[in-house]
Amino acid sequence: MSPNRVSRALKSLPTNSRDTPQHPPDARINQQGQNMIKAKAYATVDERSALAPYEIERRDPGPDDVQIQILYCGVCHSDLHTARNEWKNTLYPSVPGHEIVGRVVAVGNKVTNFKVGDLAGVGCLVDSCGHCPSCHEGEEQYCDNGFTGTYNGPLFGGENTYGGYSQTIVVKESFVLRIRHAEADLASVAPLLCAGITTYSPLRHWGAGPGKKVGVVGLGGLGHMGVKIAHAMGAHVVLFTTSTSKVADGKRLGADEVCISTSPDDMARYTGQLDYILNTVAAPHDLDAYLQLLKRDGTMTLVGAPAEPHPSPNVFGLILKRRSIAGSLIGGIRETQEMLDFCAEHGLVSDIELIPMSYINSAYERMLKSDVRYRFVIDMASLD
Ligand code: NAP
Ligand code: ZN
Repeated sequence: MSPNRVSRALKSLPTNSRDTPQHPPDARINQQGQNMIKAKAYATVDERSALAPYEIERRDPGPDDVQIQILYCGVCHSDLHTARNEWKNTLYPSVPGHEIVGRVVAVGNKVTNFKVGDLAGVGCLVDSCGHCPSCHEGEEQYCDNGFTGTYNGPLFGGENTYGGYSQTIVVKESFVLRIRHAEADLASVAPLLCAGITTYSPLRHWGAGPGKKVGVVGLGGLGHMGVKIAHAMGAHVVLFTTSTSKVADGKRLGADEVCISTSPDDMARYTGQLDYILNTVAAPHDLDAYLQLLKRDGTMTLVGAPAEPHPSPNVFGLILKRRSIAGSLIGGIRETQEMLDFCAEHGLVSDIELIPMSYINSAYERMLKSDVRYRFVIDMASLD
């Protein structure tokens, strides 16, 4: 962040808000007697419309809430899937964005871990039931009663929620993350809130580390963080990409080897070689081509979530070598904080293209062409 940007952000802060949550002069009272904060945002109103300026309301911070002025928001392929209703579950109007970083501008009187002026992050979750076994184990993303997504509402019914393509957000303290990176890196930290945790969590779960040969499929937002994190965990990393233009970047980002996945000869070199594969591809494709690269007992975890199913894999590819196909969803709050701290300690951030909010529709088109190096991040000052 430029020094000018920092001073602008600081100037807009209220001076004291621990006991008195602050809100802008244009706040209004809703039917429940709560103050509602108006905020500029970008939304789609149906699956065919482009994203466009839209005004939303945020609740006034309650006792456990933290209000964050959003400074940067990453652009995840899930935002595009949702804006265009590709998963057939979008609630409109839809305000995407779940890679949020910014500055705390108000806290409720029971908030203990954040104060006005702190940097803070919000990822894909803003609430969960809090009492099921998954929540007790800190795996709120697998909440038995349905977590509340940062955008597109509670999974199992309830009001819509609006994400990070907006000026401000109000979130329960227990779902707010602490940022320990240098402030100058803030824009590049934003993608860790989804791309970082979605790759860190399965890499940890399936034991990526020294002595393990780990394949990462797809060098997009998730994939480039997968390469960086697996490398930092000490694994030998093989990147699989369809883009010949990304070979040098793959190596720079931490891949020990790069395989062009469209070349059968190149792919054949890895048959039976890999302990683990993290597959981040956002489109349906032939899974068998990757399964045969796993050793006996190897696992391929799918984190990519295409709108249409993959062709069914050949069962013999699984049973003859006791291989597994698995899935993984983002990560819980505790693990997201662990990932942020791991990245801060290892000097890991995302490689980004900083864009103004008005560029978002072009950014989506480029993302569909795998033409982003490697995450778009919106400079939210462009929404002022
Ligand atoms: P992205 O930036 O668009 O990257 C996807 C990459 O996949 C592309 O850069 C490309 O890499 C590769 N690819 C795209 N189309 C392909 C095709 N037809 N065949 C083979 N490779 C192809 O997307 P992202 O933000 O990383 O997200 C990836 C997927 O993960 C999306 O479906 C998203 O919704 C999902 N996601 C899941 C979770 C979760 O919790 N499981 C969380 C976040 C996102 P190359 O150019 O290197 O081939
Ligand atoms: Zn995401």
